[in-house]
Amino acid sequence: MQTLRFSNGDTIPQLGLGTWKSRPGDVYNAVRTALRLGFRHIDCAYAYDNEAEIGHALADAMSDDGVRREELWITSKLWNTAHAPDDVRPALEATLRHLQLDHLDLYLMHWPVAMRKGSRMPLKTEDLINPRELPFTKTWVAMEACVDAGLARHIGVSNFSARKIKTLLDEARIKPAMDQVELHPYLQQQPLVDFCRAHGVQVTAYSPLGSNDRPKGMKGKDEPVLLEDASVAALAKAHGATPAQILIAWALARGTAVIPKSTSAEHMQDNLDAADITLSDAEMKKIAALDRHRRYIDGRFWALPGSGYTLENIWDE
Ligand code: NAP
Repeated sequence: MQTLRFSNGDTIPQLGLGTWKSRPGDVYNAVRTALRLGFRHIDCAYAYDNEAEIGHALADAMSDDGVRREELWITSKLWNTAHAPDDVRPALEATLRHLQLDHLDLYLMHWPVAMRKGSRMPLKTEDLINPRELPFTKTWVAMEACVDAGLARHIGVSNFSARKIKTLLDEARIKPAMDQVELHPYLQQQPLVDFCRAHGVQVTAYSPLGSNDRPKGMKGKDEPVLLEDASVAALAKAHGATPAQILIAWALARGTAVIPKSTSAEHMQDNLDAADITLSDAEMKKIAALDRHRRYIDGRFWALPGSGYTLENIWDE
């Protein structure tokens, strides 16, 4: 498995398993199957509401299949309701309890958005804490303390723009190791990827297959379906591969980590096999031409009038 290297020499497997929307009853088998097939990087989050089942799968894989903790790369994310500095460590400790681990390899701030404790989707304006009242820089200091306490080997961010990362690079004691953002041929974000690379921040591509199984309420009318793209299909045909494999091979070739979600053993094997596909420069150029800045996860659920969050200040564009 190809890896990406952090500044301290630690390495993360480039291909990981996503777990958002992996349902109770399915996610245990998905994680056990993924580990048996050779995945060693699992992407989790408190907000996915399935960490306890993933924890059972990890514990059973370690006791029954001889998987060692040191081989695993486990990422999780701080949810928006725990951005108050005093809430950060307890939130990480809850995630660790659920996952049955004593540390994470990577802990990410899930969004640059703070929500009041106990608030749930769909949100009202009062559920959001204005970023002037609780800026992400304050939350970050509490995440740094989690590294000091040995609860997370690395910390990073998710859904952060280059501008917000620059704020952390300028102000933070521990630099963000990772930005996890939506990346695929319809949303390539090359300037953000270049900025991260230039500043030693690794990048993970989420929703690399277009997140077609996300809730209906998050989908646009007549939105383009990435897995049905004609150019991707033509490349797949040329390689005797599937469109999903081309999308994963592209993400790997760009030097990002990539975390396709699956609960299907067949898809997981396909996704691993995508690492064997080499796209030529001409093919990479063809894919580059597909960019249309199309976000599938557009953040509009945070941009409530009067909340202090707008689509412009979430994405800084
Ligand atoms: P995705 O990985 O782009 O797409 C998942 C969909 O693709 C599922 O319907 C899955 O179905 C299908 N699929 C997987 N492998 C396939 C294959 N080889 N051929 C055909 N279909 C395939 O969507 P995502 O879940 O949104 O993103 C991936 C992960 O990124 C998430 O699970 C989560 O861990 C992370 N993420 C993070 C954020 C964030 O804010 N940080 C946001 C979104 C996602 P099957 O299950 O049936 O295979």
